[in-house]
Amino acid sequence: MKVLLADEYGFCFGVDRAVDMVEDAVGAGDTVRTLGPLIHNEQEMLRLGEKGVTTVSDPVQIQHNETAVIRAHGVTPQVQKELKEKASKVVDATCPFVTRVQRLAARAAAEDRHVIVVGSPEHPEMIGVKGYAPDHSFIIKDETEVAGLPRLRRPLVVSQTTIKAQTFFDTAEAIKEKTDDEVQVINTICSATRDRQDAARALAGMVDVFYIIGATHSSNSVKLHAVCSEQCEKSFLIETEHDIDPKDLVGAEQVGVTAGASTPGWLIDKVVKRLEHLGKEIANDHSLS
Ligand code: SF4
Repeated sequence: MKVLLADEYGFCFGVDRAVDMVEDAVGAGDTVRTLGPLIHNEQEMLRLGEKGVTTVSDPVQIQHNETAVIRAHGVTPQVQKELKEKASKVVDATCPFVTRVQRLAARAAAEDRHVIVVGSPEHPEMIGVKGYAPDHSFIIKDETEVAGLPRLRRPLVVSQTTIKAQTFFDTAEAIKEKTDDEVQVINTICSATRDRQDAARALAGMVDVFYIIGATHSSNSVKLHAVCSEQCEKSFLIETEHDIDPKDLVGAEQVGVTAGASTPGWLIDKVVKRLEHLGKEIANDHSLS
């Protein structure tokens, strides 16, 4: 039984960078507190917890001798200021792709233009971006919400980094009806999610069983599972190597593996090792077949 990994899988650039920054702060002897969970992966949070990293939900919970971490989603300028006032040090792990959206919003607002961000208003990344253009921005989910917008002044349209490209372009097109001015459209979607889906789709057609490693509440992992299921009937979303049922592997010649953007490399290694081990066991143990 051969275990094949998708060409792109696991930690995206922004999450990888955020985890590295936290590890560096821990290595420097800091008491590290992240504002909100650093990553949507329980196992990785437990690993960081063992190194003393804890999570707070509000800047007021941070002590003066502690290091505060802003996670990859970013925060509003107001929250950033509060963190600077409370903590001894602030580690800003905002993903540079998110920083770009924040800067574009701030610049357009400074020019007294309207900013329309296509995304989920309740998503932490969107709450942070809105803080950069509080009186000039609107966050809408898709084109169905364009009708609710007022007349727009020299609008800039940008996107949450993780939305579907089609949703963004359809919404940007619909926004043209809301203004007499030119609409500036800047696609700020990050390719990490799409790259992982494309790679998983390419591999799913070649394998007998597919494992997607990620949390059931991680939306990009759930999407990966859906993409793989289209091509490979036996596609399973698992959190750890313990979720593998050996019976699913009986008769399989090729097994595919991918992982969501919040799944750490060490967890992926464990799954691959377990699959390789099970492959050998099944080959030697006919009671499973
Ligand atoms: S998905 Fe993209 S934008 Fe979001 S943290 Fe990862 S690299 Fe950054």
